[in-house]
Amino acid sequence: MIRLAIVCPCYNEEEVLERSAERLRELIAQLSVKKKITPDSFVLFVNDGSRDRTWEIIRTLHDSDPEHFKGIDLAHNAGHQKAILAGMLAAVKTADAVVTIDVDLQDDIDAIEKMVDAYGEGYDVVYGVKVSRKADPAMKRLTAVTFYKLQRKLGVETVYNHADFRFMSRRVVEELAKYEERNLYLRGIIPMIGFRSTTVDDVITEREAGESKYTLSKMLTLALNGITSFSVKPIYSILSTGLIFVLIAIGIGIYVLVSLISGTAEHGWASLMLSVWFVGGIILLAIGVVGLYVGRIFIEVKRRPHYHIREELN
Ligand code: UDP
Ligand code: MG
Repeated sequence: MIRLAIVCPCYNEEEVLERSAERLRELIAQLSVKKKITPDSFVLFVNDGSRDRTWEIIRTLHDSDPEHFKGIDLAHNAGHQKAILAGMLAAVKTADAVVTIDVDLQDDIDAIEKMVDAYGEGYDVVYGVKVSRKADPAMKRLTAVTFYKLQRKLGVETVYNHADFRFMSRRVVEELAKYEERNLYLRGIIPMIGFRSTTVDDVITEREAGESKYTLSKMLTLALNGITSFSVKPIYSILSTGLIFVLIAIGIGIYVLVSLISGTAEHGWASLMLSVWFVGGIILLAIGVVGLYVGRIFIEVKRRPHYHIREELN
């Protein structure tokens, strides 16, 4: 039997917290009756700098049942990935394994039992894989699937249709702690650690209350991290693009020469302007890609702490 910690990142989640806490406590009770996890397994809520009553609710939950509800209060909104990391690192101080799940419980909590079973069979990492995205809005589905495909093209190794609903044994979390990067993209790092892993089906449902806390800009940041932290292909592709442009330029040069010699030269303003803008655009684009990586290097070398814990309920 293992002591399991269920880690839930929470950002402005006052509307769903209590209901989710109750469902998770029931789950822990069921699994401990089945002797799969110890009765003192717990839920660890990470308050990610919420501006609503989230932390007060977590505190009340902890007061009512300190054995099963614990909490960490981050001093500012560090973001979903860092909130998860904070929770996992804190949880493995006392737990044998962790499951990370969004507090809105859109993921299938029944899959947690299967994850624990897989651990019993010798797997250290178990990924929840979305079998159907019907509950996701069409826009989200489209962007997510396009992103996964793009990632794969660029050589980033991830588990298809897996978002951070995942079981990890303590030793995997301890290995994860060795990764010092600031631009955190857990879905890319954890497969790199390389312990035995498997997947379980995750049937997602709609959010019961509240709105998505993943704004478009947060999603874009995550997507950029997911690519730039793992692939240097974009930066290399500048080189091949540049080469193609040089070839085109040589072609145009030949054409100009030929037309000059044959006396049909009639080159106007339009083509000139067009190429100036076109080439200028490409150069800017290329510099932009370089800037993207330089910016990330800048952030990485500072080695700033991921988060600051203001308070711990344990
Ligand atoms: N979340 C967080 N910090 C943030 C944004 C979101 O901890 O800055 C949490 C949020 O409370 C939830 C999870 O991350 O538990 C996923 O967010 P959400 O359900 O809003 O995203 P979606 O399911 O729409 O992708
Ligand atoms: Mg959600």
